[in-house]
Amino acid sequence: MFKKVLIANRGEIVIRVAKSCRKLDLRPCGIYSDADKDSLHIRHCEEVLSIGGSSPSESYLRMDKIINAAQKLGCDFIHPGYGFLAENLEFSELCRKEGIIFVGPSPEVMKLSGDKVRARKVASKVASIVEGDEVSKVSDALDLANKIGYPVILKAAKGGGGRGLRIVTSSDELKVAFASSRNEAIMSFGSDRVYIEKYIENPRHIEVQILGDDSNIIHLGERECSVQRRNQKLIEETPSPALTNETREKITDTAIAVMKEMRYNNAGTVEFLFKEGNFYFMEVNSRIQVEHAITEEVTGIDIVAEQLHISSGEGLSIKQEDVKPRGHAIECRINAEHPISFVPFPGMVKHFVPTIGKGIRVDTFLYSGYSIPPFYDSLVAKLICTGENRDDTIRMMKDALFSFRISGIPTTIPFHISALSDNRFLEGNYDTSFINQLRPFSSKDGEVAAAILFQLPKKVHFLKKSEEEDLWMKSRFDWTHIFDPDGSPQSSLRWNK
Ligand code: ADP
Ligand code: ADP
Ligand code: MG
Repeated sequence: MFKKVLIANRGEIVIRVAKSCRKLDLRPCGIYSDADKDSLHIRHCEEVLSIGGSSPSESYLRMDKIINAAQKLGCDFIHPGYGFLAENLEFSELCRKEGIIFVGPSPEVMKLSGDKVRARKVASKVASIVEGDEVSKVSDALDLANKIGYPVILKAAKGGGGRGLRIVTSSDELKVAFASSRNEAIMSFGSDRVYIEKYIENPRHIEVQILGDDSNIIHLGERECSVQRRNQKLIEETPSPALTNETREKITDTAIAVMKEMRYNNAGTVEFLFKEGNFYFMEVNSRIQVEHAITEEVTGIDIVAEQLHISSGEGLSIKQEDVKPRGHAIECRINAEHPISFVPFPGMVKHFVPTIGKGIRVDTFLYSGYSIPPFYDSLVAKLICTGENRDDTIRMMKDALFSFRISGIPTTIPFHISALSDNRFLEGNYDTSFINQLRPFSSKDGEVAAAILFQLPKKVHFLKKSEEEDLWMKSRFDWTHIFDPDGSPQSSLRWNK
């Protein structure tokens, strides 16, 4: 009899996981909230159950409802995707108790990886960490910050998704930030434990994809994720333009050593900050990551299928010597957000026409006429391009972005066009401060992005400095210009260049 997998998530990642399930002759099953009754992910599951409630706390975070659904459908596995319960220790323990296989590392591992303070301690045996520690009182926080020196960053021990993070430059700020970080931590993660780290200015974010079973831990190379807003990723690429072969070997060896310390046993990511040739362990993400697809494209390895192999007890189907990355891959996260302020903009998608072509992969759950609900993450599509080398891939990506058509709602597409035209990005010389410094309309392609954003006359003109300034200010404060009301093809803007 075919085994069944409950994919306990929503949107694009359900569709992505369902594809690997079918490849392995596993039956994908799903759940959906009230707000998701028209979501495309339902079609990709062979059996689905409604779990009610639109807000995550009434549905996708309800462990009881999800376990119940798995039992009703007779599922052998639960794949948690990313976000929601993916890194929740209690949920993985509950699955074990109910005899359902949680597709992820064992609860023993998650006890370490899910607590960023503990993970830092374990990792520090084999990797450099940034100076810092847990603090439970504001007076301790002030003492520690004085000792390590401002700026510092406050983080939630159980944190994720950029929440609970506060960058602090003085003791006055720290007093306020300590309370607000703890509040956010308890609201988002059910724990008010926080820690302080030295804030590294303008680092790069580089992470290593790991696969491990009970006998072997291998890496699939690194990903550069330094294009971030609000400490959340928007563009990722592999390989990282910042690494020499020597530093690459060091960072991947260190990632494996960290995971060996944790006895890690599934797909996971070790995140590092990288500056001036040194890298510092940041955290382990014990789940499939949003940006896993770029690694899949250069290695040809199906990471979700490997997760399922590991969880079913078959172990990894590949060895380290089978991993031979080839070419270059970039992902642009297309979010339903204003492309400059990054304020989320859910709403009705009038027309949706993704770009297709050789080397282009689109992971999405959008379709024309779909109404994006306001309750969830703003990520609506991942555009992934893979080419022979970095320059070719950037060119492909820009072409793909020009042709990608989403009307009715604003998206991050114009941002991506500007970012991929910026000299620092083109030279591979960027860090996490990139977005703050980006002048979105200062390049020729930036002007095309501006035209898409503002529905300017089709003839794209070279902006004067004052006009650029004007657009920039307007775009930050006036959100009425961002729609594409008649749904005219965005690509036509290019013909008049
Ligand atoms: P990735 O490195 O996979 O991109 P992100 O930090 O961007 O990870 O998070 C991926 C998704 O998961 C986002 O939708 C984010 O909001 C969500 N997320 C991450 N961690 C948590 C968490 N602990 N609780 C809830 N949601 C989370
Ligand atoms: P999350 O669990 O929310 O993903 P992380 O600890 O991974 O939190 O940090 C998210 C981002 O915040 C990093 O990618 C980086 O841009 C920034 N960051 C985190 N720690 C530091 C630090 N010590 N110095 C500078 N930037 C940091
Ligand atoms: Mg992180």
